[in-house]
Amino acid sequence: MQSEATPLIDPNLALFERAQRSIPGGVNSPVRAFRSVGGTPRFIVRAAGPHFWDAAGARYIDYIGSWGPMIVGHAHPEVVAAMHAAIERGLSYGAPTEAEIEIAEELIRLVPSLEQVRLVSSGTEAAMSALRLARGATAGAGGQGRRKIVKFEGCYHGHADSLLVKAGSGLLTLGHPSSAGVPAEITQHTLVLDYNDCQQLEDAFKAHGDDIACVIVEAIAGNMNLVRATPEFLRTMRALCSRHGALLVFDEVMTGFRVALGGAQALYGIDPDLTVLGKVIGGGMPVAAFGGKREVMKHLAPLGGVYQAGTLSGNPVAVACGLATLKLVQRPGFYEALATRTFKLTQGLVAAARPSGVPFCADAAGGMFGLYFARLVPQNYAQVMAMDKSRFNAFFHAMLARGVYLAPSAYEAGFVSAAHDDDTIDRTLAAAREAFAAIG
Ligand code: PLP
Repeated sequence: MQSEATPLIDPNLALFERAQRSIPGGVNSPVRAFRSVGGTPRFIVRAAGPHFWDAAGARYIDYIGSWGPMIVGHAHPEVVAAMHAAIERGLSYGAPTEAEIEIAEELIRLVPSLEQVRLVSSGTEAAMSALRLARGATAGAGGQGRRKIVKFEGCYHGHADSLLVKAGSGLLTLGHPSSAGVPAEITQHTLVLDYNDCQQLEDAFKAHGDDIACVIVEAIAGNMNLVRATPEFLRTMRALCSRHGALLVFDEVMTGFRVALGGAQALYGIDPDLTVLGKVIGGGMPVAAFGGKREVMKHLAPLGGVYQAGTLSGNPVAVACGLATLKLVQRPGFYEALATRTFKLTQGLVAAARPSGVPFCADAAGGMFGLYFARLVPQNYAQVMAMDKSRFNAFFHAMLARGVYLAPSAYEAGFVSAAHDDDTIDRTLAAAREAFAAIG
């Protein structure tokens, strides 16, 4: 951390105290408040490349990248130029534009299963809309819809009411709300199963097969740290959905354009019926999307009876940002270089931990990584929860003090951008060697 001067009152603390007077908890999204790790959230004033700077003038190597979108690094000149050009032409029209066609065509060309897409403004909105569409598209001729959706413990698909749900007490019992303000009637149709458990999937379809509208999954989960699905788990899911007339929904809000150009579906060779996208496709602006097979998408208004709309959907400035970002990630070698850097980081962290004797391992998928204070890489939510959270918290603060900003929670994935060059990774690893020694 490079501080220009040490002020008497920490400007971050002063801002946090002020923020808490006008904003609940002082933040506009809970994890930013540092509740899980303790301490004072950093208030960011600017960012460039792999770095951002806080209100005290301290510079950090940023490993959250706005929780995924900033894959080309902060304030990339080509992205900024595209946005300036778009801004000059007006901010929002509420009428269609050619740029929306361009980004739709780009997404369809790059994500294997997509035949049509609809743009929205957040991952939450995209997942919520995809579920409504799945229910609407699987309704029988008499309009009698399938009601149930299947999700997995530890996967996050945004904060729509029916998705704020945790597993019931027994296998295959329906989920309970995981947030206040969500009536049980709304989550009663959401089945919550264990990630990577094929038998539970088989049992769920045996019990409820003709009432399941869809299964929604993060094929590489990034909201319980990083946990990979086994190929068998995804193949079983695909086969069961096809056999029972349910739709398979891949939530690639995090993995889309992050683990590979074609997302997790390209890596695993699985063909979902619907895909949910966000984060990278907006490059830091609010763009998300859901899309899939034409046969399914035709049920969406104005063609079909499933309603969905948005004042700022396909906003021209946001789309310009997304298109410029998507252009950059298609440059030859982009994902190879990103994966190589990310692997160098995770391998280096494992080596840095070894002398300290701290149980630690790591995993990387493209430009996304998981750090585990445990001996083995976890396979499901229960194993993630069994990790040593207090060790993570100590490591987080030791790294922060050395100018490295990791996700402020043991249960989040991390992100590397194309701007994280070898020097950035080397500086991170030097900080990690000190941090592990300090917490060992
Ligand atoms: N789905 C996944 C896999 C996510 O990781 C997230 C956010 O982190 C969402 C959905 C929700 O996206 P948003 O925060 O844009 O609403």
